[in-house]
Amino acid sequence: MFLRHTTTDIKERGTLSINPAKTCQPIGAMYAALGIHGCLPHSHGSQGCCSYHRSTLTRHYKEPVMAGTSSFTEGASVFGGGANLVAAIDNIFTLYSPDVIAVHTTCLSETIGDDVPSFVHQAKMKGSIPEGKYVIHTNTPSYVGSHVTGFANMTKSMVDYFSESTGEARDQINIIPGFVDPADMAEIKRIAAMMEVKIVIFPDTSGVLNAPQTGVHHMYPEGGVTVPQLISTGDSRATLALGQVASAPAGEALNSKCKVPLEILDLPIGLLATDRFINALRTAAGVEVPESVNDERGQLIDIVTDMEQYFHGKRVALAGDPDQLVALTEFLITLGMVPAHIVTGTPGKAFEKKIEEITAKCPVKVNVKAGSDLFLLHQWIKNDQVDLIIGNTYCKYIARDEDIPLIRVGFPIVDRIGHIYSPIVGYKGGIRLLEKILDAILDRQDRDAGEENIELVM
Ligand code: SF4
Repeated sequence: MFLRHTTTDIKERGTLSINPAKTCQPIGAMYAALGIHGCLPHSHGSQGCCSYHRSTLTRHYKEPVMAGTSSFTEGASVFGGGANLVAAIDNIFTLYSPDVIAVHTTCLSETIGDDVPSFVHQAKMKGSIPEGKYVIHTNTPSYVGSHVTGFANMTKSMVDYFSESTGEARDQINIIPGFVDPADMAEIKRIAAMMEVKIVIFPDTSGVLNAPQTGVHHMYPEGGVTVPQLISTGDSRATLALGQVASAPAGEALNSKCKVPLEILDLPIGLLATDRFINALRTAAGVEVPESVNDERGQLIDIVTDMEQYFHGKRVALAGDPDQLVALTEFLITLGMVPAHIVTGTPGKAFEKKIEEITAKCPVKVNVKAGSDLFLLHQWIKNDQVDLIIGNTYCKYIARDEDIPLIRVGFPIVDRIGHIYSPIVGYKGGIRLLEKILDAILDRQDRDAGEENIELVM
């Protein structure tokens, strides 16, 4: 296999990435846009870019993802894509009648320097944007950041275009869920409902990218945050932004535009991060935590204490998105595991600093790198073996080459389905993660045990 040629000799590769641990900015922007009800994402660039973005999302969510494209050819590539976008807006509203078109740029249109707001203005002047319909946009040059940056940019645009302060406070809390799966967004809503807290979650892809099969195709499924809800976020009591990279920019924009108090939290993955989320929600809404939530917490703690001997000291390599990795690393430490090697493709030194803080008391030196790739992760593993890998589908090549168990967490996961329907956030999500970790560790233990040592009951 190709990866067998990965060397143990680690060299600085400032301008060369091998097997990136990220995808491109517009994919995140397209995903966020799908979390607005009745929204058709639109890729301002070539058809090839749009096909790649759609197919990546379709493979991860196993749902047909639809989006428009400005279909750049040679002319648009040289002279700009203004005419294409103006024509596209007219066609999309005429043929598909979305409530919102959410335009993101691509490497090509960014390099040309296309001024999307002025093109949208031209479309409006032509009467191509019907009354009560909207076109929003964000800039997503993919030579900067990653799919998480694109998600953050489109989410911030929702604030820039829609949020309004009327001066009359509403008894609701904004939650910006970060780049997580629809099942995670649904879980956050379930927890808020258990606590009897009214929330506006945006974006919200639950009910859009995990909608049930009914035999009837809906161009715009039931789910997604509505435009009136987005407008109302400016009057909410507070905003909880989950994840520094994916959610903080939108939370900060809302604070600056409408003075909505902001708390930036980690993604609620694992015991401690979920505790902090529940506590922040409780405080912001002025409610008590119900016994039903405490019971779920108690179940998670029960598993941690019962199974501690299987977790303790196990070494783990992780690859993924920064916000998820921060919370996962903290969870592994809670379990007594050792997060030995950690790589994200999303750039940002703040991530490395945060991981260093979380792992400061770790018994071994932890390798961490932002803006890096799976090749480096593989080299680290070859030099210093681990018991488990946690990451997306692409990590399966390393897992196979090194014969190490892999559990799939993150984006994209294109060869399994569980992530679409079952969350990893909240206490229930923590229980699911524990089940996945234990299954991987104990399956390996059973496989390797001699006949005299194989255990029936653990
Ligand atoms: S050209 Fe840029 S925007 Fe298009 S698919 Fe490649 S990285 Fe993404």
